Amino acid sequence: MSDDEIALSPSERDQGIVRCDACPVLCRIRPGRAGACDRYANEAGKLVRVDPLVLLAKPDLARVAFVEGSSNWAGELGPNLLGKGEGALVTGIGATTTYPDYKPAPFIVSSRHDGVDMVTVVTEGIFSYCGAKVKIDTDRWLGPEQAAVRSQGEAVGHVTTAEYGSQMLSLGGVHHLVGGSKKEGVVTCDALLALCNKEAVELTIDCGATVVVQADKPPVVNGTREERMRVGCGSAAIGMFAPQWKDHVDEVIVVDDHITGVLSEHQGGRFLDMKPAGIRVRGRRSTPGRYFQVAQPGLGWGGTDVSDPLEIIEKIDPRQAWPGLRLLMVSTTGEHSAWFELDKDLKPRAASMPAPVRKVVERIAENCEPALCTVLFMAGAGGSLRAGVTENPVRLTRSVRDTLTRVTLGGVPAYVWPGGGITLMVDVAKMPEKSFGYVPTPALVAPIEFTLRADHYAALGGYASRAVALEDVLRAHKVRVEE
Ligand code: SF4
Repeated sequence: MSDDEIALSPSERDQGIVRCDACPVLCRIRPGRAGACDRYANEAGKLVRVDPLVLLAKPDLARVAFVEGSSNWAGELGPNLLGKGEGALVTGIGATTTYPDYKPAPFIVSSRHDGVDMVTVVTEGIFSYCGAKVKIDTDRWLGPEQAAVRSQGEAVGHVTTAEYGSQMLSLGGVHHLVGGSKKEGVVTCDALLALCNKEAVELTIDCGATVVVQADKPPVVNGTREERMRVGCGSAAIGMFAPQWKDHVDEVIVVDDHITGVLSEHQGGRFLDMKPAGIRVRGRRSTPGRYFQVAQPGLGWGGTDVSDPLEIIEKIDPRQAWPGLRLLMVSTTGEHSAWFELDKDLKPRAASMPAPVRKVVERIAENCEPALCTVLFMAGAGGSLRAGVTENPVRLTRSVRDTLTRVTLGGVPAYVWPGGGITLMVDVAKMPEKSFGYVPTPALVAPIEFTLRADHYAALGGYASRAVALEDVLRAHKVRVEE
């Protein structure tokens, strides 16, 4: 776009229209109106950032927000910010951005921590290379790996490798944001924005389930709220509880989509000198007492499609089993359990579960952790964003890698991947409310702060001369304190 196209016409100026240049959309904003992303507005002919700039007084302590231009500012910094503001951190939330990135970051704040001069470079990054890694604590089958994950019918990601007790989704990324149709990009951006701002999003998985995901909240799978994460696989459950079952059962089968455990065959049962019970389950035997693929994955017992546990018994060997044999079948969360005794024909008959056995079933449930969704925002901050920090961008990358520069998002330390670039991940649940925004390109806007020693900042070619004290930042901007 040429300068002429960017410039406002005399008539637009007369109407009080302002131009926002904080992203490539370059909105013309009329007085009293907001731009396309609702982050900037025209306030009496002045371009203002709508959301408050957020400052963390101290990690995990009071969170104070203030707004440029507020008439409520009385000149105090509040009890946590009096003095030198030591320990406080200006976050990138509401800080405005550096776009286009040849500009220095909007806030370069100097401070002293433990007698050391520090600098925090604060900005809002615009990320088109970004997405969310979602961990959903459930054994219920959500869909096949690589299946498309959809929001409002649009593909916004895929199912990725399951983890221990959790199903994993990989959402967003540049290909969904900008590589498909316009609608796919917009819907992907909407879903990521909502998830990163800790809102609930309904996702459907091709050939799988519908799941409602919300950071730090239990997943809802096909309308059912998940309560518990499994205690372990079936084999692990045998290992944990075998001694507690020993005198009360002749056999325990722990039904699990991953590894179904059979107590008397398992090392845990042998160690306790348990007699072989002759009950053979379906599936492929991995090692004694550990079976794969006893059923199809599903929403039933232990993440299988089983609703009647007896379905997984292939045969009962009359040479080993005996009438009256006591059999417990239980899932890895303790959510499902059934007690059987073999009749004279060696057929399992449902019976009332003895109290000591019930107690161990309840203990399985007790040992399960609450099922939650975890949303990690993942993005690449190794591009032109670095130019807002230093004239020599690769030095920032090296400084991060050498752990001389700490990277935080909304004050929360990010995990930075090894290797090239600044590829980071952060748990959105720990970030302040409404940390994320968007621009219609489409891309997500996320706060980012780089904190390092002042002498290191000068050495890497930073804009050290632009650093201002925290108090000066606050005094130069009329602020409103939110307790
Ligand atoms: S979309 Fe938002 S950031 Fe981009 S130009 Fe418009 S108001 Fe500014």
